Amino acid sequence: MAKRDYYEVLGVPKTASTDEVKSAYRRLARQYHPDVAKENPKVAEEKFKELSEAYEVLIDPEKRRRYDQLGFSAVESEFGPQGFTWQNFTHAGDVEDLFAGSPIFRQFFEGFGMPFGGLPRRESGRGADVEMALRLPLAAAVQGAHPTVEVPHAVPCRDCRGTGAKDGTAFETCPECGGSGQVRRVQSRGYTQLISIGECPRCHGLGRRILEKCPTCRGSGTLSSVEKIEIDVPAGIEDGAVLRIPGHGNAGRAGGRAGDLYVQVVFDADSPIRRAGREAFTETTVPLATALLGGQVSVPTIDGRADLKIPPGTQPETQFRLRGHGFPALRGTSRGDLIVTAHVEVPKQLSGKQREQLREALGGEAGAAEGRRESFFRRRAS
Ligand SMILES: [Zn+2]
Ligand SMILES: [Zn+2]
Repeated sequence: MAKRDYYEVLGVPKTASTDEVKSAYRRLARQYHPDVAKENPKVAEEKFKELSEAYEVLIDPEKRRRYDQLGFSAVESEFGPQGFTWQNFTHAGDVEDLFAGSPIFRQFFEGFGMPFGGLPRRESGRGADVEMALRLPLAAAVQGAHPTVEVPHAVPCRDCRGTGAKDGTAFETCPECGGSGQVRRVQSRGYTQLISIGECPRCHGLGRRILEKCPTCRGSGTLSSVEKIEIDVPAGIEDGAVLRIPGHGNAGRAGGRAGDLYVQVVFDADSPIRRAGREAFTETTVPLATALLGGQVSVPTIDGRADLKIPPGTQPETQFRLRGHGFPALRGTSRGDLIVTAHVEVPKQLSGKQREQLREALGGEAGAAEGRRESFFRRRAS
């Protein structure tokens, strides 16, 4: 693949400000969100990498200056002989928030070896994350929504305050690891010593040993429960976006931190409205007479049905724009447009009387065509 100019990759002019470079990168990076890109992750990685390489250079005034002067040869020395790798990318933090809400993302990009330093790491005793899908009507993408969901998950046991020990006190510091939860193992092989640090086998990394189990939770420290949580769905949210609600996943083991809840927003798939950014698209059928003479038809919109005025002489596949009937940007209020494609319905059959009237109304043109067809059939029949 021929290397494309960095400005071209980001779609910004040579005079673009740092802010413009940043917002172009963020906008384009969204397209490689794993929720979108999971169908072809290999291609998505290549594209996202090309984009990130361009960003790495153009966002840094010094690297950008050298690139402007010397082109790609200036950055070859920067990235090394094999070219740009994810290890060269130092600005992952600039897009982390776009993806951090998605656990799928973490697997997806960490598989690339992408250095997302700020993402939460697994910690000992931390509860599992819980994922769920939330189905919403399309109107929620316009107004936002605050649905209450019931999340089945593990919560800390009340009776032992999550320790798993009777009354929350019947435990001692693990004698094996001294409370750290980790043990050092030293293996000698010939002249070399192999030192490994692993989870303490006695307390399984918890650092304490239960003397008497809590009878309510039988020592696990957690109970299963259904929690009702109000979810704040912002206006303008895209289909498939994942919201992260920290601390509402499963309870941690023996007092460890709770996991997070991930809610994927899924819009009603049966809706006749399609979406592309802030614009909405739909279709309608216009009876032939209405297309010829004008009138109005009822069209589906995000907010219900609306009347669309059809001017006389409307051509098939004409697109009408209903201003302000599209979607807002994320957390925005001003809405894009709804574009309605009008399919003109041509009747398959006409009665003899209708044919007569139509021939009369349209004059010679239709009459001539009809005449030709009739003579054709007469010829076939003879
Ligand atoms: Zn231990
Ligand atoms: Zn308990």
